[in-house]
Amino acid sequence: MVIVFTKDATEQDIIQVIQKLTRLGLDIHRSTADERTMIRILGDKRGIDMRDIETLPGVMGIHKITDPYLMVGREYQKQDTRVTVRGTTIGGKDIVVMAGPCTLESKEQITATAQAVADQGIAILRGGAFKPRTSPYSFQGLGFEGLKLMRETADSLDMAIVSELLDIRDMDRFVELVDIIQVGARNMHNFPLLKALGQAGKPVLLKRGMWATIEEWLLAAEYILYHGNMEVILCERGIRAFESQTRFTLDLASIPIVKRRSHLPIMVDPSHASGNRQLVVPMARAAVAAGADGLLIEVHYDPRKARCDGAQSLYPGQFAQTMEQLEQIARAIGRTIQRKQG
Ligand code: PEP
Ligand code: MN
Repeated sequence: MVIVFTKDATEQDIIQVIQKLTRLGLDIHRSTADERTMIRILGDKRGIDMRDIETLPGVMGIHKITDPYLMVGREYQKQDTRVTVRGTTIGGKDIVVMAGPCTLESKEQITATAQAVADQGIAILRGGAFKPRTSPYSFQGLGFEGLKLMRETADSLDMAIVSELLDIRDMDRFVELVDIIQVGARNMHNFPLLKALGQAGKPVLLKRGMWATIEEWLLAAEYILYHGNMEVILCERGIRAFESQTRFTLDLASIPIVKRRSHLPIMVDPSHASGNRQLVVPMARAAVAAGADGLLIEVHYDPRKARCDGAQSLYPGQFAQTMEQLEQIARAIGRTIQRKQG
């Protein structure tokens, strides 16, 4: 059970509650996140009338916790979290498609690709500058030089940016350039990074680790919320299973499961899940049908030239056609695909 205080609760209010609980023989764990104090109650609560505590000054509510996480859970917050970035809201009725290249490669590549996705009304441009490559011999990305190019391009098209942060030491420079900080699947369990993102002051897109259960993923998100950042967007990107025809196995059931358990928005990355552009399109359609709040899709102005993940990158024409199909599916379930008017 957890007692949540209002933001304007005084220290005296909190002490009064703590004293009452201690007198009742209960152990407590006090924490503060997002300027709000919480007290987790440990021990046997049978026979204790919680209304005596609920009515004390400064107490906002008392919540039962049946899950190992707290702040990401629906019991903690009933209404859906909405994350707004440069005028685009993720987690509302509109489904938000973020699109762009796997990796930033050159000015020509980012300009042409950003224009192609902007032509489809995309408001958030994706692109990696620091790449988590499986092999040390693969292209590692353009680093800050690439991010600056992406920022200039996005600004000229009035777009926001999502990009992956690999190294906690890059954080300060990174947040200056990026609107949404992506945590890659390989870093979902990087606890120092998750803790630092609690203080980043920017929304975080948290990919599901390829070996992570839904509960482990939600606990990773809990780290970010607990350390002070409520703006977390989850992103399902496929998990490791025995099937070898796809790069990973897209766990579409995680969408309704997460929606039931958590108030955080959930997106799907059909590109890294499948690794093959012929599969990306049906998986994107299925994700919208299953209730995803957004999609993260790799598009390249010329995938044959891509230095990374060319096989899963959509051609601009294919992307345009997919957007139309997604609109029809969204309509059928009472939602819309967010598109900026050109
Ligand atoms: C990416 O989106 O660029 C990426 C590397 O994805 P993941 O971390 O899911 O593999
Ligand atoms: Mn990629």
